[in-house]
Amino acid sequence: MAWFHTNFAGWSKLWEPLFAKATSMVWRPLLVCPADQRWDSKPNATLIGDAAHVMPPYAGEGVNMAMLDALVLSRALLSATDIASAIASYEAEMFARMQHMTEDTMSNTEMFYAPDASERVVNMFRSFAGAAAVTSA
Ligand SMILES: Cc1cc2nc3c(=O)[nH]c(=O)nc-3n(C[C@H](O)[C@H](O)[C@H](O)COP(=O)(O)OP(=O)(O)OC[C@H]3O[C@@H](n4cnc5c(N)ncnc54)[C@H](O)[C@@H]3O)c2cc1C
Repeated sequence: MAWFHTNFAGWSKLWEPLFAKATSMVWRPLLVCPADQRWDSKPNATLIGDAAHVMPPYAGEGVNMAMLDALVLSRALLSATDIASAIASYEAEMFARMQHMTEDTMSNTEMFYAPDASERVVNMFRSFAGAAAVTSA
């Protein structure tokens, strides 16, 4: 608890039971690949999911990205004439999707850690509700 009070001075007492019961604390880094990461396609090996494009969880898209990688790659393998071109076509689609999603994620990451985070996050969720209302009208 002393550790919590020292490092998180001013935080709500709401968190205290959580830290009071913690027997140890392990800091884990949140890793991110460069948004414009590319590699030369190999004829017989590729990467999917976090192995291909690890990013912080602030867009909540890591699982979708991993599943979509598997789907896009499996479709490419079923439709291409050879494995090398299936891998190249999967990677072209995945790199473009990864770039967009990593940029989105990093913009959310900046927002979540900003001094005015609570205001901006609430506004972001309100904007989703507005978009849904417009769509369903
Ligand atoms: C704190 C946090 C919150 C997140 N929240 C969300 C969220 O809300 N929504 C979302 O969509 N995504 C979220 N993510 C991201 C999501 O968890 C990942 O993008 C997703 O799990 C990636 O799936 P994967 O199969 O590529 O990798 P993993 O889920 O990491 O699977 C890899 C597996 O390989 C195993 N493995 C590793 N090395 C070896 C080896 N040598 N031999 C055998 N097995 C091995 C590992 O044990 C693991 O089970 C979050 C991530 C974190 C860290």
